[in-house]
Amino acid sequence: MTTDNPFFAPSDLPYQLPPFDRIEIGHYLPAFERGMADQRAEVAAIAADPAPPTFENTLVALERSGRILQRVSAAFFNLASSDTSPQLQEIEKAVVPQLSAHSDAIMLDRGLYGRVRELYERRAELGLDAEPAWLLERYHTDFVRAGAQLSDEQHVRLRELNAELAGLATEFGNKVRDEMNASAVVVDDVAELDGLSDDAIAAAAQAARDRGLERGYVLNLILPTAQPQLASLTDRALRERLHTASVTRGGRGDEHDTTGLVRRIVRLRAERARLLGFEHHAEYNIADNTARTVQAVEEMLAKLAPAAVANALAEAEDLQAAIAAAGETFTLEPWDWAFYTERVRRERYAIDEAELRPYFELERVLRDGVFYAAGRLYGLRFEERPDLPAYHPDARVFEVLDHDGSPLGLFVGDFFTRASKRGGAWANALVPQSRLFGTAPVVVNNLNINRAPAGEPTLLTLDEVRTLFHEFGHALHTLFSQVHFPKFAGTRVPRDFVEYPSQVNEVWMLWPEVLANYATHHETGAPLPQEIVDRLQAAKQFNEGFATTEYLAASLLDLAWHTLRVEDAEDVDVAAFEAAALERAGVAVPFVPPRYRTPYFAHIFSGAAYSAGYYSYIWSEVLDADTVDWLTEQGGLRRELGDTFRDGLLARGGSADSMAVYRAFRGRDPLIEPLLKRRGLTANP
Ligand SMILES: [Zn+2]
Repeated sequence: MTTDNPFFAPSDLPYQLPPFDRIEIGHYLPAFERGMADQRAEVAAIAADPAPPTFENTLVALERSGRILQRVSAAFFNLASSDTSPQLQEIEKAVVPQLSAHSDAIMLDRGLYGRVRELYERRAELGLDAEPAWLLERYHTDFVRAGAQLSDEQHVRLRELNAELAGLATEFGNKVRDEMNASAVVVDDVAELDGLSDDAIAAAAQAARDRGLERGYVLNLILPTAQPQLASLTDRALRERLHTASVTRGGRGDEHDTTGLVRRIVRLRAERARLLGFEHHAEYNIADNTARTVQAVEEMLAKLAPAAVANALAEAEDLQAAIAAAGETFTLEPWDWAFYTERVRRERYAIDEAELRPYFELERVLRDGVFYAAGRLYGLRFEERPDLPAYHPDARVFEVLDHDGSPLGLFVGDFFTRASKRGGAWANALVPQSRLFGTAPVVVNNLNINRAPAGEPTLLTLDEVRTLFHEFGHALHTLFSQVHFPKFAGTRVPRDFVEYPSQVNEVWMLWPEVLANYATHHETGAPLPQEIVDRLQAAKQFNEGFATTEYLAASLLDLAWHTLRVEDAEDVDVAAFEAAALERAGVAVPFVPPRYRTPYFAHIFSGAAYSAGYYSYIWSEVLDADTVDWLTEQGGLRRELGDTFRDGLLARGGSADSMAVYRAFRGRDPLIEPLLKRRGLTANP
């Protein structure tokens, strides 16, 4: 049995694609267990090596360790997100705390850290090239940040904090998911659903049956505050119910209430930051990002907030006028925003989502849009490989060929929604590129597109088209990686840098040559009429005041929670703290609630990745807009530009300081003006 475990040896499939056709559920736990045990033994051997530390016997040896664990983790966590099951959830629950303890066992190993520190202190004499020197720098930083320098007593507390925080994160995620289900809005009379499409009404009826209701309709919630049905429901009372259900999630004092977890997580993070020598969690997290300091982030957000709020207030006036024009007398409330925004959008730009969708057929958007742009810019070609096994029948494998026809890597596209997939869209590497192991990249893009009934083409919304281009930007970052050490592969860059390449790739979706190539009517083959294209271009800044304000409010809220010092983090009243934080930051606009309110802010509480890091999207967008300006000035879709961006930026992965890479690529520091212009934030408030 153990010898058959596919994770125990490198895959013999092309590009070391995990052999999904041979992996069984029973293989994961033994592979995790052996993977962790093997790596502990490898690390113990490095630490106990009688030879003095060298770059090879310490850092390269560390990079080589944990191969089985790497293989099983990549396959498992992809599956746990995109096709989970009760058994996988059981394994996840067991494994996550073990992985946290495993990581502590390595990072708090005194013998190992002693060797890394010795090398670091002698770094000037080692004669290392740039990438190895950066590897030493990064490992040293990682050890220090993990607490390697602390006392034995402090290590005990640190391990406790890490273990408890890992558990709390899982608990928060589970409660938010359960509360989302518990907060769904039940509707008895179909008349109340006026405004929804027939498909949406059928889906609401099905959702009611799925919950065991014999009659009626259920409107399921999605994670962010704004619920899409609010744009079309004509019944104002139902809009209010739906909005209220959305914003009160997790704070209702019942078994799904997360405010106690928030208090505990915030306090423990603050305590850990203090233990590690930082003022608070935000200072700790941001120090390792390109922003470096909390002050830099605060200054940036403060620069954007007044103009965004001014734009949102101007938009609110337009909406109030639209309410009056409809013969109504009520005052605009948050649940009216999306509904009247759609009216103004239709009036002003004559853009109707339903009118666009026939031009956005999934297969064409993918091949004639996303792949086409990558072909024009980088010379890539894509060949579908149905002979290679994926983890689900819907996941499709493509071989990616470089401009000279040489093999580059694999792209797995898993586009459709299903009950076993988590919400949102994301990219992850199944095999990271590295010259150390001679591996080429294998990358997955996951989306949540509703599949059309059998025999009908799947038509996308404008937003889904954007997401397809966005996630493919992450895929390109992964595919173009040309690094030696796996630690630096592709998207392994700071959190506030990683969204930059993916956001740049969004520019091609409305680029005239690309749009003309893919946006053709799925029945008639007619191109998207130019006047609709013009209206799409003209509407780019429409409702940006709202979008920017709700995003900034969430970012500022995240920052407020994580700039709490441990002594101030006792017994905080969550709702009062949130209200005061938004007020203080100048983003307390009554009809623009934060994109996530505290009790369902899963980005920052159910995982650590975006804690004190929700600002990252707009921080990355500065680089994105600055780069798009360059692409536009230089003539857009040209191979020379693609090659410059690829070689100068994408290929570098995390193998050097990210902002130094940016400066070398762009020839100067990034400018903020292109972002202000793009979001309409230049006007004086
Ligand atoms: Zn992204």
